[in-house]
Amino acid sequence: MKDKISRRAIVTRGLIATSLIPMLGLSAWRAHAAALPPLDPSDPTAKALGFVVDSTKVDATANPSHKPTQKCGTCAQFQGKAGDATGGCNIFVGHSVPQGGWCKVWAQKPA
Ligand code: SF4
Repeated sequence: MKDKISRRAIVTRGLIATSLIPMLGLSAWRAHAAALPPLDPSDPTAKALGFVVDSTKVDATANPSHKPTQKCGTCAQFQGKAGDATGGCNIFVGHSVPQGGWCKVWAQKPA
């Protein structure tokens, strides 16, 4: 019986383990984001940035540059993936925002 582990086996297993770590971390982060409490629109920072949970309810007079296609789900700050109902937001750390929400910081997510 061969008791020694070959150098090739060690390198192969190391590469596999190294490649799995980021995937496990990303999954854990997504699970964490899904567990975040929803952002309260009455939060002082949320109010200051005009956050609404429904982009179709944006005050057009106060936000003349808002367009119907501008939603959290299309924002560069949104941390959820396509199809997620909610996701984390880089601006409102520690909270989730709805896919259809909006605030004044909205910026197009890169393609
Ligand atoms: S920064 Fe973007 S993702 Fe965050 S609340 Fe504003 S519009 Fe939504």
